[in-house]
Amino acid sequence: METELLVVLIIAAVALAWWAGRRSARRPTPFNQDFLPAHYFQGLNYVLNEQPDKAIEVFIKLIEVDNETVETHFALGNLFRRRGEVERAIRIHQNLIARPTLSMAQRTQALYELGLDYMRSGILSRAEAVFQQLTDDAAQGTAALRQLVDIYQQERDWTKAIDALTKQAELSGTKQSAVIAQYHCELAELARAERDSKRAQECIAAALANDPKCVRASLLAAEIALQAGQPKQVISELQRVEQQDPDYLSEIFVLLLQAYEQLGRSEQATEYLRNVYVRYGGVAALLHLTDLLRKQKGDAVSAEFMAEQLRTRPSMRGMHRLIELNLNLASGSEQARNQLLVLRELTVQLFHNKPIYKCRQCGFNAKALHWQCPGCKSWSSVKPVDDLEGG
Ligand SMILES: [Zn+2]
Repeated sequence: METELLVVLIIAAVALAWWAGRRSARRPTPFNQDFLPAHYFQGLNYVLNEQPDKAIEVFIKLIEVDNETVETHFALGNLFRRRGEVERAIRIHQNLIARPTLSMAQRTQALYELGLDYMRSGILSRAEAVFQQLTDDAAQGTAALRQLVDIYQQERDWTKAIDALTKQAELSGTKQSAVIAQYHCELAELARAERDSKRAQECIAAALANDPKCVRASLLAAEIALQAGQPKQVISELQRVEQQDPDYLSEIFVLLLQAYEQLGRSEQATEYLRNVYVRYGGVAALLHLTDLLRKQKGDAVSAEFMAEQLRTRPSMRGMHRLIELNLNLASGSEQARNQLLVLRELTVQLFHNKPIYKCRQCGFNAKALHWQCPGCKSWSSVKPVDDLEGG
């Protein structure tokens, strides 16, 4: 298959160049009838003997790059890159760039293609150097910046990623502020790991300035406030999440309850959870609410509450908790306890392998929250699952 394609390309390219040469009597051309056949058949011979490198040498020698044959070079270079023969693609594109007859537009296109070759071969530093030459180019600038963003994301160089994406957004007129906010959050995480909470807070402020709906920034701010012993601050950071994106509410409960506990205000925690549960439902809110009720009023009241909720909002995790509460209540009856233990085991098996998080873009399932989807690389697309079995 690959040999056939190469034959077709070379025949087409040579025929085109030869025809163009004959057609234009004013322009000097290397394709005179004495020159063409020997090299042409030599090239074909290499192709047929599956020696593509030698065929390329002939091909490059044979076709002087001009406006008629440039597209053929691009087509051949792309063909090699798509097939993973990157070294050959690089030689073709470097050969193109070296030609003085190339127009400026063709030269920048060849540079861009060369950058893609380096990306494909994993030599990110060379790809970066090539794409950086193109960032101000009217035709290739946006595409080159998109590639640079990809490189900086792979290298986790978030400062450069912010610069490149900001410039790309300006050039293309698109809005990238939510992704830029995620980059600031990455910087905040790094600063926090280095125990530089002032710098972390600056990065969080930058994230929220770019995207006021950035849930990750609120969660980070709350974690830092909790470490600093500021429970009131924790609560105000976390209560913002409801307005930012209620899909992430299940992520705030553990921190929020710790903050309320530090303040000795469990009644307020119950009230907040109850309001959130009435407005949005959600298994996580229900489980935390039942736990609070159990601490305040005991097993019987919390089991009654859970049973009531499961009638209208059934969930596997809710049922599991109801069984556990009944295990406590059925302490006197050995037979009832044994049967409840069987039921508890069954519910665990039913939700054991269910995903807790899922990407809304590509369907990637996860056990932990990823801010960038490991599957499709989208940002903020992995969200908590809240259905009958998961959550
Ligand atoms: Zn995804």
